This record gives sequence, structure tokens and C-alpha cells, in this order.
Amino acid sequence: MPDILPSQTPLWQHIEHEVTSLLHAYAYREIRFPLLEPTELFQRSIGEVTDIVEKEMYTFTDRNGDSLTLRPEGTAGCVRAVLQNGLLHTLPQRLWYLGPMFRHERPQMGRQRQFHQIGVESFGLPGPDIEAEHLLLLARLWRRLGIDHLVTLEINSLGSSAVRANYREALIGYLAARADQLDEDSRRRLGSNPLRILDTKDPGTRELLAGAPQLTDHLDEESREHMRGLRELLDAAGIAYRVNPALVRGLDYYGKTVYEWVTDSLGAQGTVCAGGRYDGLVEQLGGTPVPGVGFAMGLERLVLLLEVAGSQPGDRAQPHAYWVLGDAAAQRFAFVLAERLRDRLPWLRLQMHCGEGRMKAQMKKADRSGATLVLIVGEEELAAGQVSVRGLREGGPEQSRVGADALADYLAQQIVTR
Ligand code: ATP
Ligand code: MG
Repeated sequence: MPDILPSQTPLWQHIEHEVTSLLHAYAYREIRFPLLEPTELFQRSIGEVTDIVEKEMYTFTDRNGDSLTLRPEGTAGCVRAVLQNGLLHTLPQRLWYLGPMFRHERPQMGRQRQFHQIGVESFGLPGPDIEAEHLLLLARLWRRLGIDHLVTLEINSLGSSAVRANYREALIGYLAARADQLDEDSRRRLGSNPLRILDTKDPGTRELLAGAPQLTDHLDEESREHMRGLRELLDAAGIAYRVNPALVRGLDYYGKTVYEWVTDSLGAQGTVCAGGRYDGLVEQLGGTPVPGVGFAMGLERLVLLLEVAGSQPGDRAQPHAYWVLGDAAAQRFAFVLAERLRDRLPWLRLQMHCGEGRMKAQMKKADRSGATLVLIVGEEELAAGQVSVRGLREGGPEQSRVGADALADYLAQQIVTR
């Protein structure tokens, strides 16, 4: 569960800012729900025989003897929240959330035990137009973040639940006859969740799967039509994608559309964003049937991709100007003046020198702060009711005196705001 340090937070904030402003541009509204839920919620929604529920959840018993789990993903808690608060009486709903998720996995690059997702869930929309909207939004996001050349889209259809049940039998029939050629994990899944075998990474099993019956060949007409509709919208919008018949996703609630945005820039952790349709989930968790579609992106992997792309966003906490102060009277003068400046220029970032220190030592701190200007109040400045201003970077202004009343205008002119 890594700490995210001040040197890294500008990149995080940049991503969060770009994503949330884009979500608002598509009229998605934020929802916040707890980090803890009853364990049963995740067992019922994600599915008992999935990696997450079998091996990855942080589960404990609280003082009442209730079993609680740190959320391993957002969809289950989001559905619980919209159901419990009556949001599904007003459809459609377009929602987003952001926050930490917890999975007990082996930590490595792009895989942590506390990680962060930004997720979207839409309710009440049965057609493929909403999947297309999500994918267009995501394609735009990659362009905005400058990583569109590093990710590609893969889509698939899982069909109806009847189709999956039929296909399950066909797959078991094929694989059971060849069980001795399966890897150990897949052999275990054969009896519990055979569809999960399809995205195995074991080379031997993959080879075996090449000859297996294809889910695509078992699809029902409605799911085919849905996929056709989605592809027409994506084609019209010029969104490139690859149909990957082996794409199944690791959660039980998906049906019809599933997709992943993948990259080969992050080693084994290739999936940056994943989503799909879950029309049965709301009913399964106790509501009337309401179709749902959603996706989640992993922020850690996005941060890594932006680093690969050489992104260097500005630090929103770097001061524009640093105050260097003489004696206690100068300090009082500067504190009052700085507050007046903050009233006039709310965007202005000023760093006061706090703590003792000779002016020479303060100048060093000013330089190290990254500020572009230093504001000096010594004995002479104080007597004249002025401030000495000097640029700290190449091309900045020579030292000059500015009256206290003229300082706001001077700074507004010197500092190019974003
Ligand atoms: P993977 O196949 O990499 O384990 P997943 O299928 O378990 O991913 P989802 O549950 O669909 O992933 O979560 C969506 C996204 O969340 C992933 O694409 C990834 O970007 C991110 N994610 C999932 N688990 C982790 C983790 N342990 N650490 C960091 N990011 C993660
Ligand atoms: Mg996983």
C-alpha cells in the first residue's frame, strides 16, 4: 500500500483534473460511497468463484460480529448505494466515482494492494449508444492525457446469461476430455468457473483453447444486434478497436458488451481500463431490473503511462513568489500585505518565510522553493512602505521597489496565470 509523495502528486492531480472535467463535460455526476461494505455484497455481485472473492479481498469481523470487506472495486457498492437511496426511480443515471480499492495481490509494477480507480456507472440505458458514449469519452481522455498512441481498445460480447450457460457446457465438454493438458488453475476452474479459463496466461492452455468452441459462435441474435449497433457507432466516430473473442473479464456480473483498453508499455500489467454491461446486477442485488453499463480505470497504471509519455504537468502548489523578511516589524507588515494580495488575487500562490533565519539563508530557501519571484521586506523597504521585487529565474525582472498599494497590479502583470 504505497504512499504517494508530494513529488508524485502533481501527476495524480493532473490526471484527476483532466478526467473529472471531462466527465462533467459529458454530464456525469459524482457519487461517493463507503470504503467498507458487508462481505456478502461482493460475494453476491462479483461472484464466489472469481480471483477477487476467492483470493484477494480484505475481510474482517467487526465488533458486532458482522463480516465486512474493504471494497475491491466500485460497481457493487455503487449499485447498493443507488438502490438504497432510490436513485433508480429517476432514469437514466450517469455517475462517476474516484477512490481507493483494496486487493490482497502480489505487489509489483502497476499492481498494489491499495490502488485507485476512477469509475463510471450508467443505469437505465439498454442500447449500445451508452457503451459508445463511454468509449468516445475514454478515447478523448487518452488524447487529452497524451497517451492515445500507447493504448488500444479490445471489445467482445459475452451474450445473454442463457448463451453463457450453453457455452459453458460446450466448453466443459471440450476441455474435460483434455483435462490432462490443462494448467493447474484452469483444471480447478473447469469445475467452478470455466469461462475464466479463456483469459489464462498459461501457454499450453492457450494452445488448447485455439481449438475450443468459440463463445462468438454461440451468441444470441439480440447480443449480435447489440454488438453490431456498438460497432456502427464506433466506426462512424473513427474509434479503432479489435474484437477479441477471448476477452471475458474476471467478474461474474458482466453480459453482452465487455472491453479493455490495453497497453504493451507496462509489462504484464497491460490493462489500463476495463468495463462492460451488467444488465442483471441491479435485480440480483434486490432491485427491479435496470440495465447497467460501467468501466473503471486504474490510476497507478495511468500515472506510469504518463511517465512513459514524458508528461510533466506543473506543480499546482509551487509558489509564484517567496517572501524574505527582516525583523519582526517587517514580518507583521508582510503578513498583512500578503493577506491583502490574496484578497485581490485569489489565484496567487505566495509562500511566507516562517521560522527564524538571516536574509541570506532565506534567499536560498526562496530559490529552492521554485518561486519565480522573491518579495523582500528589509528595514529600508519597511520604512518606505515598499517591497523589493526580484526575478529568481532567467529572464525575470531586475530588482526594483514597488509600493505596497501597487504590488497587486505588479504581480498580476508579472505572473502569467493559467
Ligand atoms: P488485472 O487483470 O490486471 O488483475 P483486473 O481484471 O483484476 O486487472 P479490474 O477489476 O477490471 O482489473 O479493474 C479495472 C482496472 O483497475 C484494471 O484495468 C487496472 O487498471 C486497475 N487495477 C486492478 N487491480 C489493480 C491493482 N491491484 N493495482 C493497481 N491497479 C489495479
Ligand atoms: Mg486482478
